[in-house]
Amino acid sequence: MSASENTLALQHIDAEHHLHPFTNTRELNARGVRIIESAQGVYLRDTEGNRILDGMSGLWCVAVGHGRQDIIDAVSKQLSQLTFYNTFFNTSHPPVIELSRLLSTVTPSQFNRFFYTGSGSESNDTIFRLARYYWELMGEPEKQIFVGRENGYHGSTVAAASLGGFSSMHRQGGLPIPGIVHAPQPFWWGNGGDMDPDTFGRHVAQQTLQMIDEIGAHKVAAMIAEPIQGAGGVIVPPRTYWPELAAGLKQRNVLLISDEVICGFGRTGEWFGCELMGIEPDFMTLAKGITSGYVPMGAVAVSDRIASVLLEQGGEFAHGYTYSGHPAACAAAIKNLQILQSEKLVERVRDDIGPYLQAKWRALTEHPMIGEAVMEGLIGSFQFTSDKAARSTFPAEAKIGLTARDLSFQNGLVLRAVGDRMVIAPPFCLTHAEADELIEKVQRVIELTYAHARGLGLIA
Ligand SMILES: *Cc1c(COP(=O)(O)O)cnc(C)c1O
Repeated sequence: MSASENTLALQHIDAEHHLHPFTNTRELNARGVRIIESAQGVYLRDTEGNRILDGMSGLWCVAVGHGRQDIIDAVSKQLSQLTFYNTFFNTSHPPVIELSRLLSTVTPSQFNRFFYTGSGSESNDTIFRLARYYWELMGEPEKQIFVGRENGYHGSTVAAASLGGFSSMHRQGGLPIPGIVHAPQPFWWGNGGDMDPDTFGRHVAQQTLQMIDEIGAHKVAAMIAEPIQGAGGVIVPPRTYWPELAAGLKQRNVLLISDEVICGFGRTGEWFGCELMGIEPDFMTLAKGITSGYVPMGAVAVSDRIASVLLEQGGEFAHGYTYSGHPAACAAAIKNLQILQSEKLVERVRDDIGPYLQAKWRALTEHPMIGEAVMEGLIGSFQFTSDKAARSTFPAEAKIGLTARDLSFQNGLVLRAVGDRMVIAPPFCLTHAEADELIEKVQRVIELTYAHARGLGLIA
């Protein structure tokens, strides 16, 4: 069977039997799915033999790069030793114990206890219950309401999707559930109007605090936010936003949940995004980079302040997942964290490859169609605009972002589109030569998209 016959056969079965996440499966089936067969380092290979630079680390997760034999060996060794045992009934096992110790050393100092889950979504559902339970134990059972943000992403389970601010998700299945409100996002390019970024950052922080005051802080349990919004389009808040917001939440006795599923474990050049932003959350949501995606895993970091109340005043926390602390996932996480430490990959993102790529990335704004280009560590985005000075966007029907995404894939680079914003989050092992290749490909994609938009008369 030739490569293309093999691809067609697989595409046919996929179309018959596979319901894809966040996908219009009818449209996908009509065009034919792309099948990724193998990956090594920062490169993917599909069944057609194309080599594609993975600008998205799989789905924000493969931080150390694809195909690391040391992680594969650690997982395999653990599976031979102890494939599975639960952590519910007065039992534990060495890998979950070692991972908990290790996490307490890499997370900010207030975090010394960890609850394990299978994903970021499950972690946020866990925090939703934990935070309300905490306030019950504190004798403030009225504190029930959660503040999320418009265009925030916290996962796809019922509580997580409700905490998130994607209206496309809320429209399906009657979300959000009661008790959740959404504050504005600190997206200066899109919403800042005539304000300068710093003024806008303070303005959005104050709007959020005002929302809380209108509800009554005695009814608000917590605010959840990503330090940098990921799935919402890599939106880096103005530097004034976080300090002002975090101080206001503290004053009002509202807990802060930092959703670190993307920002955590070095993505921003610090171990955690909250450290980059200078804030001290009460909970952190962890997933993705915790195992670099080698085995699914999520976790909740619980601060000492919360944990002491749960332990001293609480009883049984009636919550858990069969796979909480799965031995194979723990083994993958331990080895992954050891690699981040021993190969100094977080420092590499902060001091070497991060700044190297950022300089070239920011220069993309020299192009007439690029409105802004931002990057912290190795997470970035650029914005297509039909008019730079007016910061205007293309009509949604023009699907400029999706066009660019497809052109990018065809040119051997994975870029993700969020509306007309293109996002990138490559593995930390990206070399300078690979970064150059990435930028060359991005420039080609921008030129092709520009030609496309001009052909449609959407830009001069
Ligand atoms: C991906 C993501 C989640 C959800 O994680 P899953 O493992 O897909 O459930 C939650 N929060 C953020 C910020 C994410 O990017």
